[in-house]
Amino acid sequence: MDAALLCAPTFQYRGTGVMMPSVDELRERLVEHVARSVRSESVLAAMRHVPRHAFVPEHGLEVAYEDRPLGIGWDVTISQPTVVGRMTEALQLSGTERVLEVGTGSGYQAAVLACLARHVDTIEVVPALAARARLALAALGIDNVDVHVGDGWDGLPSLAPFDRIVVTAAPERLPVALSQQLAEGGFLVLPIGPRDGIQRLERHRKRAGSLVREDLGGVRFVPMVHGERNDRGAR
Ligand code: SAH
Repeated sequence: MDAALLCAPTFQYRGTGVMMPSVDELRERLVEHVARSVRSESVLAAMRHVPRHAFVPEHGLEVAYEDRPLGIGWDVTISQPTVVGRMTEALQLSGTERVLEVGTGSGYQAAVLACLARHVDTIEVVPALAARARLALAALGIDNVDVHVGDGWDGLPSLAPFDRIVVTAAPERLPVALSQQLAEGGFLVLPIGPRDGIQRLERHRKRAGSLVREDLGGVRFVPMVHGERNDRGAR
């Protein structure tokens, strides 16, 4: 015998007729929004393909698909999707490039790059974030990204030169090692500016060994720190 329940024997659901949007719908809406600022069809296709929610498991689905940065611990954020789109577009990827990213964070930007480039090396200064990004990328079967723990100010000299370099934390000035590790004809895209002041998104192209700078507008990024950060008590 089943225990008697005190509630009504059958529930009748009188739904409002409002359906929750699916993850695909949420992502499509986000990409439509990003398309106001990003023209490149291939960049939009990559953003339609990569499930951003897989990189921010601590946030709800709806929040994961809002066009805003989100905290991922250690005082850092996954960037706003529109900014990810703008930076990726600025790299002008054709599919053959070797890309270096500084500031792995959640791994989301690296996943978007992985859809558009041959290979991505990404450096993260917080070991626990690097480990978490590795897991998220592996869970999606993304196998052309290597996550390195280290200080992005040094770049990755043993793997240089890179056809493209993108920095997703803001240094106060252009890191010399990164300009040296950029291939001839390549692009370096990065925000530059003080921690709490005005930061500009810049694109530098290497021509005959020197960098030619373009300003791509105002942005706000977490600072690019110097040296190793340990994980203790940082969450
Ligand atoms: N691209 C990330 C967002 C990065 S937030 C994403 O898609 O989620 C910036 C990241 O840069 C943070 O994870 C921060 O720890 C890292 N960072 C800051 N200074 C760094 C440095 N010197 N070297 C490598 N990573 C750095």
